[in-house]
Amino acid sequence: MNWDKSENLFDRALPLIPGGVNSPVRAFGAVGRHPFFVEKAEGPWLYDADGNKYLDYVCSWGPGILGHAHPRVIEAVQRACAGGLSFGAPTAKEVELAELIHTCVPDMEMMRLVSSGTEAVMSAVRVARGFTGREKIIKFAGNYHGHSDGLLVKAGSGLMTQSVPDSAGVPAGYAAQTLTAVYNDEKSVRALLEENHGQVAAVVVEPVAANMGVVLPQKGFLEFLRRITQKEGTLLIFDEVITGFRLALGGASQYTGVHADLYTFGKIVGGGMPLAVYGGRRDIMSCVAPLGTVYQAGTLSGNPVAVTAGIETLKILMEDSGIYERLDRRAQILAEAYRNSGLTVNQAGSLLTAFFTPDIGERKGRVEDYEDACACDRKAFAAYFNRMLERGIYVAPSQFEAMFVSDAHTDDLIKMTCEVIGECLA
Ligand SMILES: *Cc1c(COP(=O)(O)O)cnc(C)c1O
Repeated sequence: MNWDKSENLFDRALPLIPGGVNSPVRAFGAVGRHPFFVEKAEGPWLYDADGNKYLDYVCSWGPGILGHAHPRVIEAVQRACAGGLSFGAPTAKEVELAELIHTCVPDMEMMRLVSSGTEAVMSAVRVARGFTGREKIIKFAGNYHGHSDGLLVKAGSGLMTQSVPDSAGVPAGYAAQTLTAVYNDEKSVRALLEENHGQVAAVVVEPVAANMGVVLPQKGFLEFLRRITQKEGTLLIFDEVITGFRLALGGASQYTGVHADLYTFGKIVGGGMPLAVYGGRRDIMSCVAPLGTVYQAGTLSGNPVAVTAGIETLKILMEDSGIYERLDRRAQILAEAYRNSGLTVNQAGSLLTAFFTPDIGERKGRVEDYEDACACDRKAFAAYFNRMLERGIYVAPSQFEAMFVSDAHTDDLIKMTCEVIGECLA
C-alpha cells in the first residue's frame, strides 16, 4: 500500500492542527505510524486519499451501526439540507426524534438534544447537582465521559493510549469533586459513598464499559449500583453514548434490566451527525431551564440536519427486528476467531475487544477493570494493528477501544476477517 497523499496531507496539517488531528486517537500514535486521510466511505468500506480501501471496524467510533452512507439516511439528509441548515427555533423533527427516543427507551421521560456526547454528560451531571444540591460525583477508572473538566479523571482510551494520567488545564479543585471508584468493585463504591455521605450527587457509569476496551459489568454490579445510590439519595447516570441503540434498541437498560435516573446518548442517535441527548426522570429533568433553574443551552442544539440523520437511523433500526441478533452473532464469530488465536475477548452485542493479556499471574485471561486492561501488551497490539491494516482491515488504533460491527459487515466479510485475523496472529 502507498500512503503518499495521506503523508502529504499530514505534513500540511501538522503546523496548523495539534498533532495534525482534531481528536487525539486519530493520530495513530499508539501504533507507531501516521494516520491515513479518508476520502469517502460506503457500507463497510473506507477509502483513503491514496485510493486504498479498508474494511472498517471503527465505524466512526460507534455511530456507524448501519455502515457508512446508508442510502435512506443520505437521501433524508440531502432533502433536509435543501430546506436550510439551522434555524435556532423549534422544528417538528425535534419532537419526532424525542418521541422515537422515548419509544425505544421509555425511561427517557423528558430529554434535551445537544451536539456532542461530552455536552450530554456534562449537562446530565449539572442537572444531577442542581437536583440533589450536592457537589461530588463518582466515576469509574477507565470509563470515559467526554472531555469536560470534571470528568477527565482516569478517563480511559485516548488518555491511556498516550499515558497522560489526567489533563493539564483542569483545576485541581474541580477534579477534587470527582471521586474515582474501581469498575466491578462494589467495595470501592461503598467506601466512597460512606466517606462522602450526603455529598455525592451522582454515580456516572458506562453500563458496559467500552473505553478501556470492552469490559462487561459483572453479574450484580449494576444492580448493586442501583440499590446503593437509591439508598444514598444519589442519582445513577448511565452514560450510554456508545451502548445506546447498540446493545439493543432500548440500550443498556433493556440489555441488562437495570434502570438509571438519567441517561446520555450520542454516536448512533445522531446517525453520523453531531447530535447527542441527555434525559430521564421527568421530576429531575424539570430542573432544566426554562422550566427550572439549571441552565443549559446550545445555538446548534436540535440542528435540523443532524436530527434528520438521527430519525432516519432510529427508524431503520426499529423496522428491522432481526438486526441486533444478527450483529451479535457476527460479533461472536469474530470473538471466536480471536480466542482461537490465543487472545482474551470481551464481547457484548456488536461491541468487542480482543486483549493482548499478559501470560502470567492468576488473572491471566481476564479483563475486568482498568488495571487488567492496562496490563495488556501494547507492542504486540501495535504489530497486530499494522499487519491488519496492510491486509486492508482497519481496527481501532489502540488496545483500549472497542471493535464495532455494523450491519454492513456481511457474513462473507466476517468470514474473510476471521481468516485474516488467524494469519495476522499466527
Ligand atoms: C464518545 C463518548 C463520549 C463523548 O462523546 P463525544 O461526542 O465524543 O463528545 C462520552 N461518553 C462515552 C461513553 C463515549 O463513548
